[in-house]
Amino acid sequence: MIGILALHGAAAAHGFPGWPGIRPALTPHWSLIGPSRAICENATIPFSRAPPAMPIFPARIDSRLPQVGTTIFTVMSRLAQECGAINLSQGFPDFNAEDVLFERVAYWMRAGFNQYAPLAGMAPLREAIAHKVAALYGTAYDAETEITVTAGATQALFTAVAALVHPGDEVIVFEPVYDSYAPAIELQGGRVVRLQLAAPDYRPDWDAVAAAITPRTRMIMINSPHNPTATVWSADDMARLAALTRGTGIVVVSDEVYEHIVFDGTRHESCARDAELAARSVIVSSFGKTYHITGWKVGYVVAPRELMAEFRKVHQFNVFTVNTPVQLALADYIADASRHEGLAAFYQAKRDFFRAALGGSRFELLPSAGTYFQLARYRAISDEPDTAFVEHLTRDAGVAAIPVSAFFADGRDERVIRFCFAKNEATLAAACERLCRV
Ligand code: PMP
Ligand code: GLN
Repeated sequence: MIGILALHGAAAAHGFPGWPGIRPALTPHWSLIGPSRAICENATIPFSRAPPAMPIFPARIDSRLPQVGTTIFTVMSRLAQECGAINLSQGFPDFNAEDVLFERVAYWMRAGFNQYAPLAGMAPLREAIAHKVAALYGTAYDAETEITVTAGATQALFTAVAALVHPGDEVIVFEPVYDSYAPAIELQGGRVVRLQLAAPDYRPDWDAVAAAITPRTRMIMINSPHNPTATVWSADDMARLAALTRGTGIVVVSDEVYEHIVFDGTRHESCARDAELAARSVIVSSFGKTYHITGWKVGYVVAPRELMAEFRKVHQFNVFTVNTPVQLALADYIADASRHEGLAAFYQAKRDFFRAALGGSRFELLPSAGTYFQLARYRAISDEPDTAFVEHLTRDAGVAAIPVSAFFADGRDERVIRFCFAKNEATLAAACERLCRV
């Protein structure tokens, strides 16, 4: 039989979070729609008969991650798309970055910078990062040996764990915990030691941290400003961390992707501010959050050279290098410090707008001290589990959110959900109007 094959992505049915109408070829399947050629976006591939269906894998798979399914962010964005709901679930802006950034990418592409970057990243970007970190936090990282550009923060975190955690090592994390940490640790044979940050204030219990540290503790993973709780650690918290790790070989992996989104005049307490912590920390940041380009997946790591040497041993084999023209464009863009310096005020205005617009709702808003997230309790509305509540909210009220139980290994449900307010005011206003009717 002769016909036309059309390549659809799974995303064609659901759209793609943040990019309605665009159909990336995820888990492609083929369908027969007419004579003679297969169509994939603009490409055409001649064929004479439909290929047979994919045969099934002929053995049992012993999963490395038996408990892991699809991330809650993908699940909720997909549901939002299916329901035509306003998507305040997965964290990404619904507004664009500045044209000048896109122009710089085009400039470097046309100028011929389209081949592999050095494995550590393009020198101008590493130098710009060194300059920024020194200006903000007062620590001078060497661009040559102590800074690496990564394919976003997720890869940086994964690589740091893969490079430094041995089988049997213990790694302390704080729950609710960002969903990529535990799988990264478990894939290395590490043991995840979970400490709790309890609602409503989600403060770390430093006595519990002290009690959890053992001779097997290899690493402590921290995240401030914190996703999903929107809390920010204080200088006192950092001092406690420094004191508890003093004299040990513990590595701190500090996820600082929201470093520039800290509200109400509070300053971000980077591990890079404290010489003692800086000496044992792998600090991770992401341009996705800072410049409204989560889909570009570019971030970076700074660490003392001994740790960075180990990091790069893995980085060179799980990514090798990151997109060259984008790195050069970011090097140009980062040079204007007002861009990252203005981000806190930019998002604080959105936070305030969102909270004010929910003032008349039955949601109980917890404090949001940083990040672009807002936690809310819904006990005046419903006593259902948070997963059921967000599903109903998406389907019936037309607003998608994230159930915070997804950040707990045991699914602990404190009946709290997370909204992302990295949206245009019109989006936030429309969402809040719906939420006020719930
Ligand atoms: N860490 C935290 C706390 C995050 O919230 C995110 C993404 N929202 C990441 C890491 C991953 O960042 P990236 O998209 O750069 O991989
Ligand atoms: N970090 C983003 C969030 O918290 C999601 C990123 C992802 O989908 N992996 O919403």
